[in-house]
Amino acid sequence: MSDNGAGTGARNFDAVIVGAGFAGLYMLHKLREHGYTARVIEAGSDVGGTWYWNRYPGARCDVESLDYQYGFSDELQREWTWTERYATQPEILAYIQHVANKFDLKRDVQFDTGVVGATYEEERARWTVETDRGDTYTARFCVMATGCLSAAKVPEIDGIGSFEGDSYHTGEWPHEGVDFTGKRVGVIGTGSSGIQSIPLIAEQAEHLYVFQRTPNFSVPANNAALTEERVHNYRENFLEIKRQARETRAGMLVQPNEQSVFEVDPEERQQEFEKRWGQGGFHVVQAYADLLATEKANETIAEFVRSKIREIVKDPDVAADLEPHDHPLGTKRVCVDTKYYETFNRDNVTLVNLRKQQLEGITPAGVRTAAGDYELDAIVFATGFDAMTGALLRMDIRGKDGLRLEDKWEGGPRTYLGLSVAGFPNMFTITGPGSPSVLSNMIVSIEQHVEWITNCITYLDREGLDTIEATVDAEDAWVEHVNELADQTLFPLANSWYLGANVPGKPRVFMPYVGGVQVYGEKCAEVARNGYEGFSLGAGERVAVEA
Ligand code: FAD
Ligand code: NAP
Repeated sequence: MSDNGAGTGARNFDAVIVGAGFAGLYMLHKLREHGYTARVIEAGSDVGGTWYWNRYPGARCDVESLDYQYGFSDELQREWTWTERYATQPEILAYIQHVANKFDLKRDVQFDTGVVGATYEEERARWTVETDRGDTYTARFCVMATGCLSAAKVPEIDGIGSFEGDSYHTGEWPHEGVDFTGKRVGVIGTGSSGIQSIPLIAEQAEHLYVFQRTPNFSVPANNAALTEERVHNYRENFLEIKRQARETRAGMLVQPNEQSVFEVDPEERQQEFEKRWGQGGFHVVQAYADLLATEKANETIAEFVRSKIREIVKDPDVAADLEPHDHPLGTKRVCVDTKYYETFNRDNVTLVNLRKQQLEGITPAGVRTAAGDYELDAIVFATGFDAMTGALLRMDIRGKDGLRLEDKWEGGPRTYLGLSVAGFPNMFTITGPGSPSVLSNMIVSIEQHVEWITNCITYLDREGLDTIEATVDAEDAWVEHVNELADQTLFPLANSWYLGANVPGKPRVFMPYVGGVQVYGEKCAEVARNGYEGFSLGAGERVAVEA
């Protein structure tokens, strides 16, 4: 272990961790627990990651708060009380602050600093990490905790720089908040961020124009205050619930139904859908075992949601424009909303269907479509992220022989287990492409990765080994397996960010692992049990590093 103390201005560490969200903070905590020195480098001014940046009105988790918290410390969960079924962004951020303070994590975080490059030096078996402040750090391990949804994507729309009003991206929202009172506002984008923010912006704005290219499926959150009883029951069974969550597909306990949707008659099916729609959240998607498995089964739930849109939205033409028809439900992340469809019954809200009137550009005064000009005081880009690979590829990462990650991933990301990349020894990616990540409760997946990486590092030290690198064969086999599994599902039928379809020119490769948290976790554990099968482990000469 390097004896260079962190927090002392030293620049050499056992590990450099990039990112101070849920992943980077837990990685730091685990490494410190095992006596390693680590430095976290974070572009933001404080901890929180997603919950530091996404401060738009209505931002909340869509996995229930009780499930969306760390599971590693019983003491931690006992001293934190969630107030709502789906916590708001400020409450989640306050929780992460609490975690950082409790475990005294901030002293090892370098804030307001972007990592611009990381280079592996083979001879010394060390990473050199460069920042936008001109600093360099060296470390034996480089852990990328840069997030799957952290590289905000401003769309390439003609004239975007010419707008003279105010513009905002949901993923880079001003900390002081935005007051839309008396303003004509345009929201571009109707994914989860748009769908959460639109109802609240509509309450403030003089007039809101929603520019929708593709309608999404959204289900009601039916958010409410958590009862004391629910909190108590969860708290008393916490460790067992967290253990069981790792044995599920999505990293959270849901009410599974083993039945096919076609085993029941239409009346019973309707009742079940209604019951689950009333429960809110992802319950409705879990109503039958095959809803996400075949197009025919999927159409039953898709049509149910469309019927709800027609029921809620009073103007039949607007309702028709809001109905999704171009992808099976669930092949893009289902949105969880509070009064989204109801918002289109307001007099001050206009839906602009960009499939009927194409978006031509942004002008100094607003948005121009084929049908005319919309004059606006503010534009909100709810246009998503360069997901899963964006944050990694915005850095210049170079592995052995100067191999650039950007070149290696030219045809799409290639990893072994979503944790490691051949040619990039001693670098780990938390929730990297090829792992369940965004298809799961991310906290569960983050914790599983952090613990696997920690165990791996302590194993190397116990065995007197210095380096670990995925073999090309293991990586090829894993990439093939991830693709094969995805091809057996409905996912490739949607133009989603899971496939990189939202970023022009990005290779279309289905990035997350669809096999589920449990199967994936077992595979990772088996790899470790078998002496890190699929990796080559090296015992080079340990280089003494001066502080
Ligand atoms: P992040 O929280 O994204 O943190 C990564 C950090 O790395 C960021 O702070 C970023 O600034 C930093 N960083 C990146 N690149 C660099 C660089 N080059 N130099 C320095 N710093 C860098 N998941 C769920 O499971 N349930 C939910 O309900 C849910 N809701 C979400 C809501 C929103 C609005 C969004 C955008 C995502 C949501 N997610 C949800 C996914 C969410 O991203 C994860 O749950 C989780 O917060 C990711 O944590 P992380 O630490 O891996 O990444
Ligand atoms: P997103 O799902 O990628 O949605 C982006 C929206 O912008 C889409 O409607 C897209 O239309 C539209 N868009 C993009 N470029 C456009 C252009 N040039 N012209 C017109 N429209 C354009 O992004 P997001 O809503 O930020 O969500 C991303 C992910 O973050 C979610 O899927 C989820 O995983 C997570 N998230 C979760 C929550 C939550 O509820 N907890 C909230 C926010 C985000 P097309 O569909 O036609 O491309």
